[in-house]
Parts: sequence; C-alpha cells; structure tokens
Amino acid sequence: HSSLQAMHQKLKSHGSGILCLHGDPIAQWKVLIHTCQVREVYFNEDYEPAAIERDEHIRHYLEARNIHVHACKDQLIFAPGEVMKSDGLPYTVFTPFKKTWLSQFQGVLSSKMSSGKFFPHTPPFPSLDVMGFESSGIPVPKYDLSKIRDYDEKRDIPAEGGTTRLGPHLRFGTVSIRQIIEQLPPGSDVFLSELIWREFFMQILYHYPHVVARSFREKYDNIEWRNNKDEFRTWCRGETGYPMVDAGMRELNATGFMHNRVRMVTASFLCKHLLIDWRWGEAYFADKLLDFELSSNNGNWQWAAGTGCDAAPYFRIFNPGSQQKKFDPDMEYIKKWVPELGSSSYPEPMVEHAFARQRALSAYKIIKEN
Ligand code: FAD
Repeated sequence: HSSLQAMHQKLKSHGSGILCLHGDPIAQWKVLIHTCQVREVYFNEDYEPAAIERDEHIRHYLEARNIHVHACKDQLIFAPGEVMKSDGLPYTVFTPFKKTWLSQFQGVLSSKMSSGKFFPHTPPFPSLDVMGFESSGIPVPKYDLSKIRDYDEKRDIPAEGGTTRLGPHLRFGTVSIRQIIEQLPPGSDVFLSELIWREFFMQILYHYPHVVARSFREKYDNIEWRNNKDEFRTWCRGETGYPMVDAGMRELNATGFMHNRVRMVTASFLCKHLLIDWRWGEAYFADKLLDFELSSNNGNWQWAAGTGCDAAPYFRIFNPGSQQKKFDPDMEYIKKWVPELGSSSYPEPMVEHAFARQRALSAYKIIKEN
C-alpha cells in the first residue's frame, strides 16, 4: 500500500495518479468499463492457482465485451513452461532445471518507462481503513544488494544478516526480477542460484497445483502425524527448549522475517521432532512472513518435510544442536532472541532429540516401505 501510494504521489506531479480500486474484481471491472473507454487491458501473469482462476474469469468477462486482453511476463525470467525437459515434461529436480535455465538465459532486456502519456486524472487513493486493513507496526526492510559481495561466506550465518532481504520486494513486485539480475556483479553464481530456486518452485506450483493442499509425492499424505495442538503452540511461541528453534520462531513473530538456515531448522523440527503436519507450519509461516510466497513457502516446507519434489531424504533429520554449533557457534543470533538462555526461566527441551529422531524415522519408514 505504501509503495503504491508513493508512486501515486509521484504521478500526481505529472497531473496523473493510480486508480486503485478494491473489491470483487468483476464488480470493479464492470464499473471501470462503464466509466472509462477501455479498448485494451494489459496485466502481469500470476502463476498461483487462485490467481490464474481469477485472471481467466476477468479475461472472459472483458473479451466478451470486445476488449483485448494482453498477458505480460513480469514475475520471473522464465515463466512456467519455458524451461522444460527434452521430453517436454516439467523438471521436478532442481539441478537439471538450473542447468537448462542457465543455458537458456541470454541476459535481460530492460525497458524504460516512457513519459508524457499518463492517465490525465488524479483519482483519490484509498486508505488502508477504507479497505478494511490496519497498519502493521512491522516495517518492511529495504533490500540491500551490497550483501551479494560476501554472500557465499555469510548467507548461512544468521548473526551476520548476510542476505539481501529481497523477499518481500520480489513477492510484491516493488522491484523487478530483471532489474535485480541486471545489477548482479560477476561471480554472483550462488546468489543467482537462489533466484532460480524461486523460479523452480513457481513452475512446480504451476504444473502440480495439487501441492497447495497435498504432498507432491502422494504416498506421503499417509504419514501418521501426531498433530498435538499444545506442542504446536509451544513451537509457534518459540518455547521448545531448543535455542536455535526458539530464536527463529521469536525472530519470525517479532519481525516477519526468519533467516533461511533457521527456517530449515524450525521447519524440520516441527515435521520431524514433533511429527506435526507440514501444512500447519506452512500456514503459520504464511501468516507471519513478510515475504510469504505460496510457491516458495510450500516448496520449502515440503522440502523440509521430505514430502516434496527434490526433497531432502526422509532420514535426514536436522539436529538443532549441531546446526547451532555450525552456524551460530558464538550464540550471537540465539542470545539476541533468547536472552533468558541459561537461566531457570528457559524451558527444558520439550522432547529428547534421539528419541524424536527415532520416532520420526519409524513414521516415515512405514511410508517408504509401503
Ligand atoms: P536472499 O538469501 O538474499 O535471497 C534472495 C532471494 O532469492 C530471496 O528473496 C528469494 O526470492 C530467493 N530465494 C532464496 N532462497 C530461496 C529458497 N530456498 N527458495 C526459493 N527462493 C529463494 N522464500 C520466500 O520468498 N517466501 C516464502 O514464503 C518462503 N518460505 C520459506 C519456508 C521455509 C520452511 C524455508 C526453509 C524457506 C522459505 N523461503 C521462502 C526461502 C528463503 O528462506 C527466503 O527466500 C529467504 O530467507 C529470504 O531472505 P532474503 O530475501 O534475504 O534472501
């Protein structure tokens, strides 16, 4: 809202503005085509199942009224369907997808906005209240591409803050993926690889929309989750007694962000140590993350749960203690979020690691064998 409002203010100096309508899309289009003479409509493709359905609905509505509708690619470098296996099927494994992606990539074509043809009208800009929203106290950080310089060494260390914080900006389109890729310094391969993960999960969601509600690999829908609600709430609050897990959950609750390494540890802990359905964790992250993106959230949760395409094998269970030793050896990150660590107010581990590991292995092994 604030990004659009800033653009609206900028356009006002050209005697123009953004016409921002809120409500049922077809009802809004109905009003729009009766108040303006609309001959053509251009929109950016969105690959989430609900968005595809919405956009198709609107396309039919407009085309039935002789309005030409043009879809543009904007969210990704390669849209779903553009990076395919030689047999014409989608990739379900990341490494070969990335290889083909890179072999097809020939740079980006940036386009500049032309001036002088602005919508000659300064419509009122709706406030958050009018649309039924409340302003959140959590700020959206600016992204920082200078982090790319030391990305390879620092990206996995939560205390370093060594990542770009591009997430919310790519998710909401406040920066274009082309603009980012155009600015990458030489030697940004590891960083580029992360951006390709984003495209990989986007095309998985597009080609296999069942992942929204179910496991990518169907047999994993039969895992016997324990789904203990009290334990789930303990995980959400960051009171599990595992410092790395607790620090991550508290960071998420306070800031709408959690470092990627810690996302992996907390997600694995929920699915494996507590045997709680990955969809519960996915929904909690969706609620809290500023960078929540259905495809990346779903893909990464299924990766951590071992239920997805190209997932970590089911027997790989993160040990939160070893993860802390490796990625937060001085406990700098943990102490920031769990200041009471070491005092009597910090809880004992809610479940013993070796026991939980064995329990998870048994639950997954049954599926593997069937
Ligand atoms: P950087 O490390 O600076 O990376 C730059 C960009 O690359 C990110 O903004 C993102 O667009 C992309 N990227 C990086 N890692 C991944 C990845 N593993 N998968 C897909 N794209 C990636 N990312 C989201 O954008 N939205 C989510 O809802 C989301 N949920 C996640 C849930 C779990 C359980 C896990 C393990 C990871 C999730 N991620 C998600 C991926 C990753 O954690 C975030 O993209 C990253 O932490 C965002 O911080 P950043 O922008 O500083 O990333």
